[in-house]
Amino acid sequence: MRLILFGPPGSGKGTYASILEKRLGIPKINTGDIFREIAKSKTELGEKIRECMNSGELVPDDITIKVLKGRISKPDCENGFILDGYPRTIPQAEALEKISDIDVVINLVVPQRVILARLSGRLICKKCNTIFHEKYLKPKKPGVCDKCGGELYHREDDRPKAIKQRLKVYQDQLKPLIKYYKERKSFANVKCNKVDIPPEVVADRIFLALKKLGLLKR
Ligand code: AMP
Repeated sequence: MRLILFGPPGSGKGTYASILEKRLGIPKINTGDIFREIAKSKTELGEKIRECMNSGELVPDDITIKVLKGRISKPDCENGFILDGYPRTIPQAEALEKISDIDVVINLVVPQRVILARLSGRLICKKCNTIFHEKYLKPKKPGVCDKCGGELYHREDDRPKAIKQRLKVYQDQLKPLIKYYKERKSFANVKCNKVDIPPEVVADRIFLALKKLGLLKR
């Protein structure tokens, strides 16, 4: 299955994508993670991506499309993939259409108050990017990743003012994409309406939506 997962920053999208990855046996592809990795390198491309990310801007489409193409042509994507963070623009959606046939788009719908509560306590592993929360998804040992033992950190842009700005940018970007996919692909909205909703519950809602669309047998 080739699935696109849309969801605002703080929707828990990364966590649900990880659950889907395990249950569907297809890789999740997060362009933000890929860019954070490239941004660590001391190359010209790394420098360019670092600049975009630090200023909160999107990485230019030509770079993003090239990186995405490279990733989904890898053998582990043969049976499908879960896109998280891509596409963010119509040219990105159109480029994707040329190289792959998307089966379904899931859009996570989350109220702003839930997002603010989630993001201001979000912790991310420096090594493997696993996400935790100070209150709602605590690591076993404070400051340490349960999975790989890496150090946990707060993202620079996880502050209320920056969060509100990111949400506005997100909604502006999302609108035309929702229209684009509703006209072309199987599409479902999935509600994510509480701060402490267990990730498995949202994942189950996603599975239910996939079943209703006839994309999952069981
Ligand atoms: P994220 O972790 O999804 O918030 O992404 C972090 C940053 O990576 C964004 O602010 C952008 O600079 C860049 N980025 C991630 N995905 C894309 C994309 N599809 N198109 C352009 N830039 C992206």
